[in-house]
Amino acid sequence: MKISNSKELFAKAQNFIPGGVNSPVRAFRSVGGEPLFIKKAEGAYLYDEDGNQFIELINSWGPMLLGHNHPKVKAAVIAAMEDGTSFGAPTAREVEIAELIVSMVPSIEKVRMVNSGTEATMSAIRVARGFTGRDKFIKMEGHYHGHGDSFLIAAGSGAMTMGDPDSPGVTKGTAKDTLIAPYNNLEAIEELIKANQGEIAALILEPVPGNMGLCLPKEGYLQGLRDICTREGIVLIFDEVMTGFRLAKGGAQEVYGVTPDMTTLGKIIGGGMPVGAYGGKRE
Ligand SMILES: *Cc1c(COP(=O)(O)O)cnc(C)c1O
Repeated sequence: MKISNSKELFAKAQNFIPGGVNSPVRAFRSVGGEPLFIKKAEGAYLYDEDGNQFIELINSWGPMLLGHNHPKVKAAVIAAMEDGTSFGAPTAREVEIAELIVSMVPSIEKVRMVNSGTEATMSAIRVARGFTGRDKFIKMEGHYHGHGDSFLIAAGSGAMTMGDPDSPGVTKGTAKDTLIAPYNNLEAIEELIKANQGEIAALILEPVPGNMGLCLPKEGYLQGLRDICTREGIVLIFDEVMTGFRLAKGGAQEVYGVTPDMTTLGKIIGGGMPVGAYGGKRE
């Protein structure tokens, strides 16, 4: 297979972009080899800069549920572009998408749009802290919630830089408010809560984690978390950036019948555009 154009582009990119890529997961460093530069995609196929065709098994890490460059999506994007791109004022389309999200995701009564999954999780934690007046939150070992400072601790595949899952540059002050628990273990949650009584604002997790390899929740685990959070006044946040609109129209919360207080969304609602959202109870 000829990949000389990709090789040339990668060599050039390293002069201008750290590591030659805009996300560490694209660098192939942890698995060896060099990245291919993609020129275009259509349906189930990707085409690189050397004209090689590939069957697309990654779906751009989630968003391309309908396949690449679907004619209906493409037509809608072009039609929207005819009206301009940004106004700094409300639009009818925002109301339409908010209504659609609220109708699909069980836990979401109100939703706010942001630009990425990272912004959605950062904002959800801030809301939970504001609501509870508490500072700390619990995240699960190996779960990824984007590249906000307080999440880059035991953050799984999405944060792997040079094989190190924890990012330099995150301060000890920030890290001390992030409590780490193992997934699928309710006793560990009870212990953390006992040791930090009245101090925990939120518990965030990927209900069905994909960033530590695919893992299924044990029978009763998600309901157990729901019960503990209700008892302790902790805001339960499902990060459904990957599972939302994918495991079911209403995400993992629909499949498992457990309703969190807040939900974060991304990837798929953008269909390849940079979009995220977070929402929850009206309260
Ligand atoms: C990708 C991902 C994020 C971050 O979303 P970005 O749009 O890349 O910022 C957050 N949570 C989960 C579960 C993800 O898979």
